[in-house]
Amino acid sequence: MPASLRVNPPPMRLSQFHLHTSKETPAEAEIVSHKLMLKAGMIRKLAAGLYTWSPLGLRVLRKVERAVREEMDAAGAVELLMPTIQPQELWEETGRWEKFGGQLLKIKDRKEAGYCYGPTAEEVITDFARSELSSYKQLPVNFYNIQTKFRDEIRPRFGVMRAREFLMKDAYSFHVDDESLAAEYKNMYDTYGRIFTRLGLKFRAVFADTGAIGGSASHEFHVLADSGEDALAFSSDSDYAANVELAEAVAPVPRPAAAEAMRKVDTPTQKTCEDVAALMGIDLKRTVKSVAVMGADADGNPQFVLALVRGDHVVNEIKLAKLSGLGEYRLANEGEIDTHLGSEPGFLGPVAPKQAMRVVADRSVAAMADFVVGANEKGFHIAGVNWGRDLPEPDDVADIRNVAEGDPSPDGKGTLGFARGIEVGHVFALGRKYSEAMQCTVLDANGKAVMPAMGCYGIGVSRIVAAAIEQNHDANGIVWPDAMAPWQVAVCMINPKNDANVSAAAEALYRELNAAGIEAVLDDRGLRPGAMFADIELIGIPHRVVVSERGIAAGSFEYRHRRASEAENLDRAALLARLG
Ligand code: ATP
Ligand code: MG
Ligand code: MG
Ligand code: MG
Repeated sequence: MPASLRVNPPPMRLSQFHLHTSKETPAEAEIVSHKLMLKAGMIRKLAAGLYTWSPLGLRVLRKVERAVREEMDAAGAVELLMPTIQPQELWEETGRWEKFGGQLLKIKDRKEAGYCYGPTAEEVITDFARSELSSYKQLPVNFYNIQTKFRDEIRPRFGVMRAREFLMKDAYSFHVDDESLAAEYKNMYDTYGRIFTRLGLKFRAVFADTGAIGGSASHEFHVLADSGEDALAFSSDSDYAANVELAEAVAPVPRPAAAEAMRKVDTPTQKTCEDVAALMGIDLKRTVKSVAVMGADADGNPQFVLALVRGDHVVNEIKLAKLSGLGEYRLANEGEIDTHLGSEPGFLGPVAPKQAMRVVADRSVAAMADFVVGANEKGFHIAGVNWGRDLPEPDDVADIRNVAEGDPSPDGKGTLGFARGIEVGHVFALGRKYSEAMQCTVLDANGKAVMPAMGCYGIGVSRIVAAAIEQNHDANGIVWPDAMAPWQVAVCMINPKNDANVSAAAEALYRELNAAGIEAVLDDRGLRPGAMFADIELIGIPHRVVVSERGIAAGSFEYRHRRASEAENLDRAALLARLG
């Protein structure tokens, strides 16, 4: 067992630990990680997007936290802790109090002063920096914290995968010049690779949109899984990899049919999406479509709203973007939806944000059509409806490959293939957006006040727990990567109540393993072997050792790795060698 897995664990007996597994497959869970986390009793729902982590769940969460913290420390970042509640004034300095959108949970205290529950912490860290940092000699510096965040997600789902309250590692770096920022960006990019490798995840880094956070360069780290909410594009012949949204933005995939149809659409006549679909000969019920309602703001700048539609339901958030030429566009982040609607008076002014939010809430094509009509009535000129590439729901992954396979890669090398991913990390080169807005300066080597360049680097600590299960499970339950397992070894005793020898031998082994720094848990609950083994498999412990009367008589232990199909009998030395 590698040294990084060794700890000084306090002894842990399952009889004294609150393990609460369930045989039932929870009906409300759509994806395997959510099902297994509920079955294993790792989390319990309090309200939409709010979860209590049970003692078992917390052990796993702490393992992820530990890996993230150790690698961040090793990379030279320094940990601090910022509050979860943030004052409104700070968010007004950057304009994000209005712009951030519906994900921002706004709160008032007893004096009616405004606060929000932090969804991210650029404002707080920049405020910290402007009072703590005064000289270039203190730079570069990278501050991080592992802290609870709250985002009022439109559709919290999949358990902790898209929760409203969740645990994030967020880091923010400050630099006297862009070269230093670029170096730290690379350092964090490499560190993220080490973190996800150490956690035993199959992942890819892809180009990403900078979205609501802003900035110039950005990469997302995705755990590859068919249940992922993001579609990723990969080149067949190069390292090119991007979130599909961006792949389209940097090099639009030609869609002559859609562009042609768009020219034909005259929305005052074709008022509903069904009408437009009919015009284009598309069967709306067939599959998921991305639908973009295109239009122009008061100044004639092209704009559009996009929704993913399956049958007559909007299955993904409406997104909004500015259009810079037909077929070439940049999608806004979900967080920006009512940002744009609310903050740009020329655009949809009186219709939004209520109308747009209603479309999202109702999730129906009819509501979407109403929105189009409503927008028209308010003088918003709807130029057309653009039907994008088919996007599948998670269980239709084959579709996306069929539909999109073979489009040319934007870098000109090879063709695009597609996979689905779960975003577990995101690195941004922010530049001076926040230091400028908040007047954060330091003195450079010539004594001149300069605005530091910033980077920010997020990891979804709690989301990783679910993402890891998507990649590591079988019919019997979770199969933890070693670095995330709640314990490395389960020592199971057969018939302990009737057999003092068995309890004594199991107890001794369990103590010996823990003393050697190998995290072992003792299953002393006195369950029948079948039920005991089912639990140990369900909760995904990598190594299982069974201590029984028969084994003691033969001088052996029954050992089985979670991934092995058969158990084997090993004597003490062989067992310790295997576990050590
Ligand atoms: P997503 O695209 O999934 O909504 P995001 O791009 O909005 O994520 P970031 O602002 O990049 O998220 O935040 C950093 C990380 O926090 C993300 O990479 C993700 O792993 C995690 N995260 C974001 N939103 C949630 C959520 N609702 N539940 C759990 N983790 C989340
Ligand atoms: Mg988001
Ligand atoms: Mg994202
Ligand atoms: Mg992101």
